[in-house]
Amino acid sequence: MKKVVIIGGGVIGLCSAYYLVKEGHEVVIVDQSSMDHGASYVNAGYLTPSHFMPLAAPGVMKQGLKWMFNSASPLFIKPRLDRSFLSWAWAFNKSCTAKNVSQSIGVIKDFNLWSAELFSEIKTSEKFTFQLENKGLLMLCKTEKMLEEELHLAKIAMDEGLEVNSLSTSEIQAMEPHANINAIGAIHYQCDWHTTPHEFMKEMQDWLLAKGVTFYKNERVDDLQISHGKIKSISTQKNTFTADEFVLAAGSWSHFLSRKLGIRIPLEAGKGYRINVDQHTGITIPAVLAEAKIAVTPMNGFTRFAGTMEFSGVNHNINPLRVNAIANAAGDYYSGLKVTEDEKISAACGLRPVSPDGKPYIGKSSKCKNLTIATGHAMMGWSLAPATGKLVTEIISEKKTSMPLDAFHPDRKF
Ligand SMILES: Cc1cc2nc3c(=O)[nH]c(=O)nc-3n(C[C@H](O)[C@H](O)[C@H](O)COP(=O)(O)OP(=O)(O)OC[C@H]3O[C@@H](n4cnc5c(N)ncnc54)[C@H](O)[C@@H]3O)c2cc1C
Repeated sequence: MKKVVIIGGGVIGLCSAYYLVKEGHEVVIVDQSSMDHGASYVNAGYLTPSHFMPLAAPGVMKQGLKWMFNSASPLFIKPRLDRSFLSWAWAFNKSCTAKNVSQSIGVIKDFNLWSAELFSEIKTSEKFTFQLENKGLLMLCKTEKMLEEELHLAKIAMDEGLEVNSLSTSEIQAMEPHANINAIGAIHYQCDWHTTPHEFMKEMQDWLLAKGVTFYKNERVDDLQISHGKIKSISTQKNTFTADEFVLAAGSWSHFLSRKLGIRIPLEAGKGYRINVDQHTGITIPAVLAEAKIAVTPMNGFTRFAGTMEFSGVNHNINPLRVNAIANAAGDYYSGLKVTEDEKISAACGLRPVSPDGKPYIGKSSKCKNLTIATGHAMMGWSLAPATGKLVTEIISEKKTSMPLDAFHPDRKF
């Protein structure tokens, strides 16, 4: 049994704690927030084998540059003259290649499929009640050009063994009879699942508390004391924590701490927004509004519209132009749906920790023997959390990992 301190109580930190406890380790979680907001709460709740395409793909940088002056666009990169942003942008640009795509697809897909199974296993074995449904995901297209692109991706998905089929307008309407969908066609990824994030986060926190995990909320880890290539202790303003092993699951803030150990993990915060729509929408199947790049999720009691990837540093400033763009897209694809001013005012955002090549960092750097890094999951952190937690636990327990970790190595070069 080891004593493990986890820095960060988002979904990655909680799932790591879950499997560590199951393995008999003693766990402490330290989080700078009240652990009820941020990326792990505002996300679209998808478990996404369908999102096998990494963000760093050919043409993405060019598109980002085109959209740079449009603050309502789905992808927005605000250029900054700081070293960490510039080196991330350089590495991201270098990763936007066909080679990165072909090396990533299979790995990302298998990781997602395994993690979805683990969500299901957790729900059954702990008798959790969080929403977990397998209705698949509709990629709704309004234009021929987008439909063609999506059909191309669907072909790759089928070659990868995923259950996918294309739908005509009437087939879409038959699947969603109570939502007036305005699309010329869709791809249905039957392999995808959806959840209501805050339900899972609450049940997991309660379970961990009941199992003796100690939480230190509203405490920011500022300092790490190191000796002979190992962390001796970490400190916040109020406490100092010692442990055998540490886990860095601090999301978009992780690189600020790893830097103190000389570990360079390029990371940028990709801000996303969500609007919860409480009015009845008739939407029962999750969808991605393909041209607008907005995710739509029928959650327990409301419909969530989530989207945009805004690289503008680590902040939670809400840009009303982006909120409006999401609300307008909702009305464009679902005729008759009007997001209210109250729903827009209640919009929230969260920061996705984005690595340059679209793959997370999972494992130990050669620079520190007792730190396991688990971050950089970008648009898939929710989906990949249980599998990541399991891998973190296998590393700390010195067991053979369930999948090879080379692609996720924190010391990899870009
Ligand atoms: C709008 C939106 C939609 C999304 N949709 C999906 C989706 O449908 N499916 C999917 O798979 N993913 C989705 N994602 C991505 C997913 O939400 C993230 O990848 C995931 O939540 C990241 O989890 P995390 O635990 O790594 O980070 P976080 O949730 O950010 O947690 C990190 C925690 O670390 C704490 N912390 C940071 N620094 C310190 C410090 N120094 N000391 C102590 N604590 C610290 C923070 O307070 C925070 O609580 C979406 C994200 C957004 C924003």
